[in-house]
Amino acid sequence: MPELPEAEVVRRQLHAAMVGATINHIRVGREDIVRQGVESLAWYSVSHITAVQRHGKSVVLVCERGAEKRVVVAELGMTGLLLFTREAIPSAKHVHMIMSLANGPQPELWYWNARRFGRLYLLDQEAWKDYRQRRFGRDPFTMTGDEFVHLIRSCRGRIKAALLNQHRIAGIGNIYANEALFRSGIHPYARGCRLSKRRIRTLFETMQRVLEEAIAMGGSSIRSFVAPDGTPGQFQRRHLVYQKTGSPCPNGCGTRIRTLMDERSSFVCATCQKR
Ligand SMILES: [Zn+2]
Repeated sequence: MPELPEAEVVRRQLHAAMVGATINHIRVGREDIVRQGVESLAWYSVSHITAVQRHGKSVVLVCERGAEKRVVVAELGMTGLLLFTREAIPSAKHVHMIMSLANGPQPELWYWNARRFGRLYLLDQEAWKDYRQRRFGRDPFTMTGDEFVHLIRSCRGRIKAALLNQHRIAGIGNIYANEALFRSGIHPYARGCRLSKRRIRTLFETMQRVLEEAIAMGGSSIRSFVAPDGTPGQFQRRHLVYQKTGSPCPNGCGTRIRTLMDERSSFVCATCQKR
């Protein structure tokens, strides 16, 4: 958390407010906030923002200066936020970057992360290409159903681990993996290679629908997530199993939701979710 829907909510607000704006200056709290490319910090002032993209759970500002193009990658990680307003900042202590902007509706963009180390990358085109290839698997919205079936069927391990593997599918985290599996009637410990094509197709369509609904509702505000303008998400109200341990199954089967402790907690109805 934040996962794909929250990153997409951030991207959309940034896109609306920042494309066409000029970066006057980027100030970082400590140099090690920038994991790569800190020596190019000065290049960004004065550059123009020409696009805002999302890759997996990361938000990417595309900047141009003269004929050259570079990017700022902000990984949101577990607790990261990109914010326009000071009011939305949980505590000033963890502000890792302030970007001063001109020629747009917002004067500043703040990067906040409760973790001690933020994760920003300042990359030229070559480094960005390399980073992209290393980090991100397929996007759930641009891959085809056939590609998803192929990918899941090639996994010998637990299906939930495959969904969470960012090198295979980029953007799904623990909330949306649990919700999509429950709604598809698939147990998180089912083996990908043993599932029928039909069930994997159902999972694919369900996953896309859950992600779309979550984006439309501003994401899930678990912990501190808010959009750049300070608006919290509402999709947590639609969660059926995530953090619902002990509640009756929403399908009405009479079983209670159980927690399985793996790398990340799984929330499961043992009756409705089959291996
Ligand atoms: Zn059930």
